[in-house]
Order: sequence, then structure tokens, then C-alpha cells
Amino acid sequence: MKNNCVFCAIAGGEIPSFKVYEDDRFLAYLDINPFSKGHTLVIPKTHSEALLDTDDEILGDLVKCVKRVALKVKAATKCDGFNILQNNGEAAGQTVRHIHFHIVPRYGASPIVFENHEGNMQELSSLADAIRSV
Ligand code: 5GP
Ligand code: ZN
Repeated sequence: MKNNCVFCAIAGGEIPSFKVYEDDRFLAYLDINPFSKGHTLVIPKTHSEALLDTDDEILGDLVKCVKRVALKVKAATKCDGFNILQNNGEAAGQTVRHIHFHIVPRYGASPIVFENHEGNMQELSSLADAIRSV
């Protein structure tokens, strides 16, 4: 696996994912163990570890891509709101060392609990179809 990085492997197609958006530089796919229905990750295809070592131009366009994908996630899930998370370093809870933004849909007045739940593959597959087709 290139860089020993799971997200590079996803970007390179070595590991499957439920893609919701892709262009030549960026990729978005459902989190395999979502915090909530529609939890999506957005990455640049080029590897950098976190915010501080990411090229400014890529970072700027990555944020625009997060907005574009969030619009699709919101339309498909009909969520009431969403959180954007971006963890930097192990102490901040970063487990995958390839920069990524989380889009975490929120429903109703449920309290904020950022906790992974095992994903149901069938549900993730149809959700990815719905978001991709917005
Ligand atoms: P972090 O804690 O680094 O900010 O978030 C990493 C996220 O990546 C976690 O929410 C985790 O569930 C997700 N994740 C880890 N490995 C995979 C994978 O192989 N595929 C997908 N789709 N998500 C993954
Ligand atoms: Zn990587």
C-alpha cells in the first residue's frame, strides 16, 4: 500500500469505498463507521498528513469541494444541519494520517456525540447512490 496510507489506497482504487463525489484532485466517500447517517469524508488525492503540511492552493480548493459535497449530502439525507470536523494529530483524535474533512449530518435536536458506529454495507451503498446522484 502506497505510503502505508489507507486513504491513498482508497484514492488509488486499491481499497473499495462508497464514493459520493470525485474529480481529478478530490474524492468524497462515506465513512465506513459513521457518526450519523450520511457521514462523509472529503480528501485530496495527493497525500499530506494534516492541515499544516497541506499546500495552500489544494487546501483552499478542498474547502470548496467540502461545500459542494455538503450540499449534496444535505439534499440527499434531508438532514437538519451538519458539522464539519478536521482532526490534526493523535491528541486531537486523528486516526488516519491523510488530511480529511468530515461532514457529519445532524438530525433534529439529538445531542452532539461524535462516536463511530459499525456501518451497514447495504445502507451505505444505497446512500452513496442517493448522494452521488444529487
Ligand atoms: P479521524 O479520526 O482520523 O479524523 O477519522 C478517520 C475516519 O476514517 C474515521 O471516522 C473512520 O471511521 C474512517 N475510516 C477509517 N478507515 C476507513 C476505510 O477504510 N474506509 C472508510 N470509508 N472510512 C474509514
Ligand atoms: Zn495518503
